[in-house]
Amino acid sequence: MTPDTTTDDTIGTADGAERATIYYDEDADTSYIAEKTVAVLGYGSQGHAHAQNLADSEVDVIVGLREDSSSWSAAEDDGLDVRTPAEAAAEADIVSMLVPDTVQPAVYEAIREGLEPGNTLQFAHGFNIHYGQIRPPEDVDVTMIAPKSPGHLVRRNYENREGTPGLLAIYRDATGEAKQEALAYAQAIGCARAGVVETTFQEETETDLFGEQAVLCGGIAELIKAGYETLVDAGYSPEMAYFECLNEMKLIVDLMYEGGIGAMYDSVSDTAEYGGLTRGRAVVDDHARENMEQVLEDVQDGQFAREWITENQANRPTYRQLRQQEKAHEIEAVGEQLRELFAWAEEDSEAEDEESDREEVRA
Ligand code: NAD
Ligand code: MG
Repeated sequence: MTPDTTTDDTIGTADGAERATIYYDEDADTSYIAEKTVAVLGYGSQGHAHAQNLADSEVDVIVGLREDSSSWSAAEDDGLDVRTPAEAAAEADIVSMLVPDTVQPAVYEAIREGLEPGNTLQFAHGFNIHYGQIRPPEDVDVTMIAPKSPGHLVRRNYENREGTPGLLAIYRDATGEAKQEALAYAQAIGCARAGVVETTFQEETETDLFGEQAVLCGGIAELIKAGYETLVDAGYSPEMAYFECLNEMKLIVDLMYEGGIGAMYDSVSDTAEYGGLTRGRAVVDDHARENMEQVLEDVQDGQFAREWITENQANRPTYRQLRQQEKAHEIEAVGEQLRELFAWAEEDSEAEDEESDREEVRA
């Protein structure tokens, strides 16, 4: 495999300046992973999916877990070899770091002696490498294969012979084969079937943090609450405010997911489209954009990372308090009552994965 044999799919940016390369199964060579042993550290969302998919792709896998971990028996029940992280890493050629990002530096300290020259330390998110919380030796490859999906979908898509899109990044190529090996890993967990977009640790980390803060988690939650509060403060019923500002969000996002913003505007009424086009920009105005730039700056200069690392070292006092505060918002209580009244909420929940649950809902 060389980059020039790559299927020539690219993603353009708004100004067409930078384009990302996308790799597929035909770009991957199984021989780069076939004879290797992979230590999958952690058996949570990503860990269980990577471990099982690798094993089904006939790659040797050892799961690394703490001896008191409740996942130990789960991984064994799934037919996997389980050891402590240090033992697993010592045996392995590739160490896949799939414990929570906040515990990765401590787990790294426990496994670092097991990293031999030519081994690979692999991540599914770049935070600890990009912000210098883990500093692997110069003679170890440092790579990233990050599925753009929660683990249960990575596993389900593999079993259904579908793929899960993912990202590939190489932080350090000590062996000269880091990319080929990462692509073989991506193929083995089912990502190359859907497409693997090439990025860097810096780009993945910064865009991921910015996206979840400004748009996906923080931005959308605050937009919903602000809309809800505006209606309720003006005397409208909390139930109406909930439906308008929170419940309908899913329908709108589904339309955008399927066909972009244009498809969403095509599906709503002309009145909704005209109102959105003329009023949306008044809400997310230049000031909101300046705030977004500040959020991005805090990500880029490491201010956010320092804050989050310190917060964890102090046992998360601010995090706990903000969590409590968020749970206590009126919209949560109103939503809980309304969702109980309507079967659609249960049908949309993750519980529907189980066929039996689905039947119960419909019964
Ligand atoms: P998770 O919280 O679902 O699972 C963590 C696992 O690590 C659990 O099995 C837990 O028992 C184990 N663990 C916790 N502390 C440990 C310790 N001290 N020693 C050994 N094992 C320990 O984590 P996740 O969401 O799968 O995240 C793993 C990585 O994948 C992170 O880097 C994350 O950013 C990345 N990622 C996650 C997703 C996602 O959707 N969840 C998507 C892409 C990338
Ligand atoms: Mg994320």
